Amino acid sequence: MGTLDGMTAVRPAISDVSDAALLAWLAKRGEPAYRAKQIRRHATRGTAAGFGELTDLPKPLREALAASFRWTSVELVREDASADGETRKALLRLADGHHIETVLMPHHGARNAVCVSTQAGCPMACAFCATGEMGLVRNLTAGEIVDQTRHWQRELAQRGDRVSHVVYMGMGEPFNNYDATLASTRTLVDPEAFGISPRRLTISTCGVVPGIDQLAGEGLPINLAVSLHAPDDPTRARIMPINRKWGVEEVLAAAARYVKRTKRRVTFEYVLLAGVNDSAETARELAALITRHGPTKDSHVNLIPYNPGAGGFRRPSVERMEHFAEVLQEQGIAATLRISKGQDIAAGCGQLKVAEGKAQLLPI
Ligand code: SF4
Repeated sequence: MGTLDGMTAVRPAISDVSDAALLAWLAKRGEPAYRAKQIRRHATRGTAAGFGELTDLPKPLREALAASFRWTSVELVREDASADGETRKALLRLADGHHIETVLMPHHGARNAVCVSTQAGCPMACAFCATGEMGLVRNLTAGEIVDQTRHWQRELAQRGDRVSHVVYMGMGEPFNNYDATLASTRTLVDPEAFGISPRRLTISTCGVVPGIDQLAGEGLPINLAVSLHAPDDPTRARIMPINRKWGVEEVLAAAARYVKRTKRRVTFEYVLLAGVNDSAETARELAALITRHGPTKDSHVNLIPYNPGAGGFRRPSVERMEHFAEVLQEQGIAATLRISKGQDIAAGCGQLKVAEGKAQLLPI
């Protein structure tokens, strides 16, 4: 990915230019409409680092593009890798100087999942979440969301590989920035752009019920993940303020409606916090809640060991976490527990933080 060519530039980034605007821009210069597809393909394929490298376009057009648009809306500040070297996390700077994070999670050479942020910071204030401590800085544009995927696509393209999956589990609540989030999914699934199947996209919400219902009506079979983290209102409200607006039963009912309309399974994200939500009794309550709201085959629980930091909670012992998973499984609920470190950071939101003013990455 190229660099931001001028932090104060007002030129829009190419990912934030709509098809209609790009076509109009080309028409004004007497360029044929097919150039728009050419430019989009170049921008998403990842092999070029700037307009200057689009050598199948006439030079004057390349120069005019560079004078009118920025190649990308994000600039790499720093990149870290997990201990096994697999998972990588990038700190990116936006044109206005704010920072966001994005993660690449390769999986045994079979897939390359990218985790994207939808907001700089997050206003939802979940008690265990590093991003929540920042508060909301601002919503990202659709282009800024897409450009996180482009960042990794550029890296992967150097070795003949590509992004295969995108999960919206980075900083922010995607449904608080619904239009930009949805617009970014349209670019990701567009065959002329990334061409990723909607079945390979996952949007994770902390339980914004209207957002779940709205996405269900979009006609896109995108996977839904719901950050649940507790099966009862008092516990959930204690660690997730949003529960005061939409309680556990409402969230589960919305998830069931989503499954019914889209025929996709839903994943319930569950961060295990010692002494808070990790008892065998809580696991049984969770299983009963899920069973009450629909066929258990339609859902899956992703158990995430708490990453010590925000909120001052403790991570349960491995035995306790494994027992929690076993209880769920005994009750017929599919549950996975990933203890490897690199997976933790992006298995659910809440693990990313950028200290505004002093950009930093939390260790993977
Ligand atoms: S867990 Fe997700 S929704 Fe909650 S504060 Fe963190 S980023 Fe926001």
